[in-house]
Amino acid sequence: MSGHLAVVGLGPGDARCLTAEAQAALVGADALYGYIRYLERVPERAGQSRHASDNRQEGARAAAALAAAAAGARVALVSGGDPGVFAMAAAVCEEIAAGPDEWRDLDVAIVPGVTAMLAVAARVGAPLGHDFCALSLSDNLKSWKTIERRLDAAAGAGFVLALYNPISRARPWQLGRAFERLRGQLPPETPVVFGRAVARGDEAIAVTTLDAADPGSADMATLIIVGSRETHVIARPRRAPLVYTSRSARGAA
Ligand code: SAH
Repeated sequence: MSGHLAVVGLGPGDARCLTAEAQAALVGADALYGYIRYLERVPERAGQSRHASDNRQEGARAAAALAAAAAGARVALVSGGDPGVFAMAAAVCEEIAAGPDEWRDLDVAIVPGVTAMLAVAARVGAPLGHDFCALSLSDNLKSWKTIERRLDAAAGAGFVLALYNPISRARPWQLGRAFERLRGQLPPETPVVFGRAVARGDEAIAVTTLDAADPGSADMATLIIVGSRETHVIARPRRAPLVYTSRSARGAA
């Protein structure tokens, strides 16, 4: 089969965060597929077709990209951040698993990108400098009970948490409940970072504590990092504070 599908991570926003490999995959494609907001970030190129879709149709978008590749096109399916983190690479694998046998013969490449938690962490120091885990707070694809169990287990085991999909119009209360849950496990002064629209024009970064963390400060474009007992803040009178997670767990139980 001559077609090719690249699932390409665009990074958090700014084109400077795009890897050279991702850039080459975008330039080499005959057809671009993706959520409209992400496609808008890719410069137009003559001879390249564009197939924008709505944010919610991940399975259908992956299937359409696979069908185009199976028909012989060089397809790039774009994703924000990294395509393997709560994004299109898993949707493509799910469609291949359930789809026609010929899709298993396709040349598929996953091209990594800078994921939101790394971009946010880099803005404030090194909060992911030791053991951490990433959780999506969206209960669209899993139950809220499962999310609470994972929050308890992760915080209880001393992991720093990177929270993706913290809040949306359809999911207004989940983040508040998550903070309440974490307050039952962690000290009130635990550092919390809100990183909004990192590497985009309207970027905003805030460092606060678990006690003071306000769910109203987050939106769909926010990634939240909740520290562990090893996460500290260095106050700097003339510069923004530095947040880091110590690599030696001296204080751990
Ligand atoms: N594949 C993406 C994540 C998709 S889930 C990645 O690797 O980054 C969407 C969530 O990612 C958002 O709700 C938000 O939590 C986070 N996110 C994506 N881009 C972001 C950015 N520029 N700044 C902060 N958070 C971002």
